[in-house]
Amino acid sequence: MTRKRSAKHREESKERDLEIHSLEELKNWCWDEEPIELLFGKVERAKREWEATADALPQLICLVDERGRILRANRTVETWNLGRVTAVRGLELHELLHPHCTHPACLLNRLLKHARTEAGKGQPAELALRDTVLNRHLLVRVQPVQVLENMAPSTVVVVQDVSDQKRAEESLKRHAQRLEAMTEIQSAILAARSPEEIAQAALIRIRQLVHFHHARVTLYKPESREFFVLAADANGDTHLRPGRSYPDSFFLGNRDRQPDKFFVIDDLATLSDPSIVERQLLNDGIRSYVSLPLSAEGDFIGSLSLGTITPSSFDNEQIKAVSEVGDLLAIATRQARLYHQVQRANTELEKALHSKDQMIQNVSHELRTPLGIIYGYTEVLLETSDQGPLTSKQARILQAMLQQGERLRFMVERILALQTFDAQHLQLQQIQLDRWLPAMVSRWESRASRPTRSAPIRFEVECSAALILADAGLLKQVMVDLLDNAQKFSPNGGTVRISARAEDDTAIVAVSDQGIGIPPEKLSHIFERFYQVDGSATRRYGGMGIGLALCRTIVEAHGGRIWAESQGEGHGSTFHVLLPKASSQEESL
Ligand code: ADP
Repeated sequence: MTRKRSAKHREESKERDLEIHSLEELKNWCWDEEPIELLFGKVERAKREWEATADALPQLICLVDERGRILRANRTVETWNLGRVTAVRGLELHELLHPHCTHPACLLNRLLKHARTEAGKGQPAELALRDTVLNRHLLVRVQPVQVLENMAPSTVVVVQDVSDQKRAEESLKRHAQRLEAMTEIQSAILAARSPEEIAQAALIRIRQLVHFHHARVTLYKPESREFFVLAADANGDTHLRPGRSYPDSFFLGNRDRQPDKFFVIDDLATLSDPSIVERQLLNDGIRSYVSLPLSAEGDFIGSLSLGTITPSSFDNEQIKAVSEVGDLLAIATRQARLYHQVQRANTELEKALHSKDQMIQNVSHELRTPLGIIYGYTEVLLETSDQGPLTSKQARILQAMLQQGERLRFMVERILALQTFDAQHLQLQQIQLDRWLPAMVSRWESRASRPTRSAPIRFEVECSAALILADAGLLKQVMVDLLDNAQKFSPNGGTVRISARAEDDTAIVAVSDQGIGIPPEKLSHIFERFYQVDGSATRRYGGMGIGLALCRTIVEAHGGRIWAESQGEGHGSTFHVLLPKASSQEESL
């Protein structure tokens, strides 16, 4: 380029407020004093503007030379208390940002080196750095720059303090982990059945939330003032063993350190009055200790305690998490205890019921023989006249004895039938209900002892065809019981309707009366053994409450169902017996 052309060019550039784009252009300026001053002024202004802008940014911005030394840093270096802007010049970036790192292959140094090798290609690089001493998270971005071809490459380093963001992320992560662990603990606790299993499941899961070297769950037994160890988890030998009880005096510290109170001990070694348990823990090397009372519905039921070998190691967040587990543990433990109490009571009840059944069976059995003898002799007395003819009074007395004896014998037989019923001995045969039922009812009508009534009861039978497979003797017993009851509870002149109909794979027999009816709340009880709707001593109707219980036993042994319906007292009752039809039953066999 000639000087002449340069002079012209200069003029043009002045007009355009001095713009230099290449080394060539700069050389053209250098022969004249005035434009150089102009140039320096311009550069100075640009530098100040850059510095002002850089100083206003929250990030730390450094210009680093090719040896990794700081050429210039913005004011953030002072707000971060790393030194004065002028003082950090010449320091290695590594010394400034990562002063505690002595690692020969320090990541920051490697990053800067990488940035230098990349210089020219203009590739940026990034590094997340954690300063554990200052507890700061930094994000370092390096951008190699080479202003002019022949100049040594330098690097712009932008450092962002992302500690707050990082802390928020970590807290969020911890929170999510805690939630996950809590859900797991909840399901583990729910799946466990005994208080011991629940406590064990909780301790295993607490490890996901808190680091510990000792953990223990105890159950308080107020009656003996002891703590029962449900579960314990310790690295070393623990003096309190699961499955054993220890007096509460072992656990009592000063007023603030009672098992029914929440307390944290930063260092067991500093206690002047340790309890027996605290002393044992200290011997095992435990220093930090936290004890949480377990309470359900306001009752103190036990405690959960954790310990670590480092003093002051439980922070608030951990304690909060553990107490949440403690709440779950308390509820589940209480429920498991209640469940066990109910189970125990059930077993006791079953035993009591069994011995009652046995007693009823034995008594009935023992009554059978003497009753038979009394009954037999009464019959003999009535029938034979060896002792001379009976007076009419004697005959009446013997008749009455015979009647009552018969009643007693019937009752004993019924009790024994109910107590000793065995479904294995059913003698099944095909029964055509529309033929069998009317015949059975008419036989019963002709033989049944009918109470004297001002107006007799009518029996109406209406059957459609249905073939069933049943034990005819037992089915008859069911029908007799239902008919006896219908008759017993019917008003004078009432009608009892007996019907049978087929429905899908079943046949339903119904006995319906217009009698005293049954209150709705008693309907489900009348099939229980010895149950009477009116159980008072002054009741109008006699009976032992055996008939319907026996009916249910027989019907269910046939694979059927029996139930009663009533519109309430005074509105009659209907008894339904559902039995599988023969064809469907045979198919299913
Ligand atoms: P019981 O031998 O005492 O009659 P059941 O087991 O046959 O015993 O009946 C139980 C109770 O059910 C009876 O005491 C009675 O209160 C009630 N009950 C049974 N059948 C009828 C009916 N048809 N109408 C009203 N109540 C009935």
